[in-house]
Amino acid sequence: MLVVMQAQATEDQVRAVCQKIESLGYRAHSMPGAQRTAIGITGNKGEVEAGTLEEMPGVQEVIRVSKPYKLVSRDTKPDNTVIKFPNSLVTIGGKDLAIVAGPCGIESRDQAFATAERVARTGAQFFRGGAYKPRTSPYSFQGLGEEGLKIMAEIRDRFGLLIITEAVDYESLDLVDQYADVIQIGARNMQNFSLLKRAGRARKPVLLKRGIAATLEEFLMAAEYIMSEGNYNIVLCERGVRTFADHTRNTLDLSIVPAVQRLSHLPIIVDPSHGTGKRNKVTPLSRAAIAVGADGLIVEVHHDPDRALSDGMQSLYPDQFDALMEQVRQIAAVLGRSIPASAHTHAGATVS
Ligand code: PEP
Ligand code: MN
Repeated sequence: MLVVMQAQATEDQVRAVCQKIESLGYRAHSMPGAQRTAIGITGNKGEVEAGTLEEMPGVQEVIRVSKPYKLVSRDTKPDNTVIKFPNSLVTIGGKDLAIVAGPCGIESRDQAFATAERVARTGAQFFRGGAYKPRTSPYSFQGLGEEGLKIMAEIRDRFGLLIITEAVDYESLDLVDQYADVIQIGARNMQNFSLLKRAGRARKPVLLKRGIAATLEEFLMAAEYIMSEGNYNIVLCERGVRTFADHTRNTLDLSIVPAVQRLSHLPIIVDPSHGTGKRNKVTPLSRAAIAVGADGLIVEVHHDPDRALSDGMQSLYPDQFDALMEQVRQIAAVLGRSIPASAHTHAGATVS
């Protein structure tokens, strides 16, 4: 159910409707928009009795949402969600493209700093790197854990980059929530519903990666899990799905970008690194992702990919990342979008 408020409804009227919904034993999700506020109702087992709500001051109409996802739907919130960060001009989902770059995993302080210095200079606003790595083999590098998070926090202070890193379970989610600016939920956990709910109670925005074989509806339902717990700052991420094609590691499904944008107000970015698994395909598919309308890119870059402990084959050399950014800026301009000059001009930190 969705309560649509009148355009001129006051804040008090919105609050009164939310209180009424909560007093009926449901949860109210107020979604302010440019035209009007809508209030999503969750927690109901069956139909909510619309009558009492319909009669309240400031209410325009009460409508049933027929889609299985409600809060992530454009029916609930017609305007795009733009995610903002405290003390920063960086946004995700607005006119500016979000550029996330960094190694697959944080391997050492030197490795992380060497890569961060390069990507900050070229225009990334976010630094990525796993401290907890979900690896196919238990014998592969598993990440540095909290030490990796501390290195990333130092990188934020040094370069003014915002930090994105993956949480793989409850324990790491609490730590990532403390240290990072964005909590990444990986493809393998896209349907880990208890983890999604926990992320929904976290303070930080969530980057939700598409599951390895997830449909669009399953992807949006995973985001709905997070939102239903009260965290409305979600960025979706297309990272390729498993198909019969074997010329790439995964098949990057760029058609999901306009499909998501039609159904949902949430921003969506593209990961051409995991989406292809091959360095030589990352640049062309990054260009395509921006052209198709993605809100940004998440790209693996390593200062020395040949020695990387994970995903070296798909990691760009810093020079390649520089060239990619140059191209992406031009494609963005055609679409009326832009990439802020560089992270440090935003955050006030300096890069020497
Ligand atoms: C990653 O970003 O390094 C990662 C493991 O991604 P995914 O969950 O998409 O495989
Ligand atoms: Mn990786």
